[in-house]
Amino acid sequence: MAEQNLFEIVQKQLDECAKILKLDSNVHAMLRVPMRELHVSLPVPMDDGTIRVFQGFRVQYNDARGPTKGGIRFHPEETIDTVRALAAWMTWKCALLDLPLGGAKGGIICNPKEMSQGELERLSRAYIQAIWQFIGPDKDIPAPDVYTNPQIMAWMMDEYSKIAGKNQFGIITGKPLCLGGSAGRDDGTAQGGWYTIGEAAKECGVELKQATVAVQGYGNAGYYAGYRGKTLFDSKIVAVSDTKGGIFSKGGLDPEAVREHKAKTGSVINFPDTKAISNEELLELDVDILIPAALENVITEKNATNIKAKIVAELANGPTTPEADDILYKKGAHVIPDFLCNAGGVTVSYFEMVQNFYMYYWDEKEVHQRLDKKMTAAYYSVLNISKKYNINMRQAAYVVAVERIVEAMKLRGWV
Ligand code: NAD
Repeated sequence: MAEQNLFEIVQKQLDECAKILKLDSNVHAMLRVPMRELHVSLPVPMDDGTIRVFQGFRVQYNDARGPTKGGIRFHPEETIDTVRALAAWMTWKCALLDLPLGGAKGGIICNPKEMSQGELERLSRAYIQAIWQFIGPDKDIPAPDVYTNPQIMAWMMDEYSKIAGKNQFGIITGKPLCLGGSAGRDDGTAQGGWYTIGEAAKECGVELKQATVAVQGYGNAGYYAGYRGKTLFDSKIVAVSDTKGGIFSKGGLDPEAVREHKAKTGSVINFPDTKAISNEELLELDVDILIPAALENVITEKNATNIKAKIVAELANGPTTPEADDILYKKGAHVIPDFLCNAGGVTVSYFEMVQNFYMYYWDEKEVHQRLDKKMTAAYYSVLNISKKYNINMRQAAYVVAVERIVEAMKLRGWV
């Protein structure tokens, strides 16, 4: 999955932040490693009668600011270090958005594309059976991520509720609406991302109406990034892609029609009246806004110099390597770093938890208003620090987040 070890990248980013903040060495040492992690083996009966043993993880990185929160990935190339890195980013992200939560992440090494619905259900339930003592509505609350979805969240919530002997909707977020899900969760990541792009566009002097946009990855984050770009700002989505390749249309794509095409054919490729492009070409297109919304380590020292977008909005986690970060900063590209740009997902997840606790549900308009307020405040807290210390947006996001976590650790008497 990753060319560079993602957890080493996180540690490198943290080390840079520690220098800027002149962080106490004890605090630094504590923040460099996860607080705790669980490795599980999951024996699952397959449709052919055999039992396959899958490996799963749950990493709770730091809970100084509250119960930990983070998604679950199903991916054939999942590694413990990727999960550790993602759990660290969740910790920074929750602090940056000023949510009363710490960070966690889970993963199972599996290929959901090759599994039946029955096998996926048995795997999801087996995971909860293996980790239920480790999680809880006031301990650690999972959510969806790559290749997991509301149906999988529903199975997991049901399994946990069975073990607990009562409905426990607050154990997981990203659930279907009729099972305690929140309005605005499906598109929360993209919607939140566009609130930050809206502010970045003012900063960079980009007119969003008819601004050209390329989106890498056309799953949950990517599809809604295209759809919301068009509906919120009338921006022009000129290119999108998935694992099989990309498509380009100078006149702009209809994100909904592309989604229907992908649902029918399994990919965005071969969408009528478009030019085929590779994922690499997509990143280097001459567009106003580039939205990486697939996986990590796609913008590297090899292609960063060729990136022409004025704004790089990282909906994916970890799409840019530290070497590429330097190049983009020197070129003057405005990078909205991942744990700021994609924080809309966890923010609406937090709203879902709040609604579950209250058993009272908000409409989409209310969710979006609250989300806009949170994302815009976080964007300016990062921008202001970036300007004050003359550091890039990612370093600034680290400074804001880490300062808040350290304050909580100190007040709790941990250091
Ligand atoms: P998803 O499984 O719904 O979609 C992933 C998409 O990426 C698919 O279209 C897949 O074809 C494509 N893809 C995978 N590998 C690719 C490659 N090498 N090149 C091009 N395309 C590729 O996943 P998602 O939930 O949309 O997550 C995408 C990214 O956004 C991940 O980095 C995830 O951690 C991040 N993210 C998602 C959320 C969320 O709420 N969904 C929240 C925060 C961050």
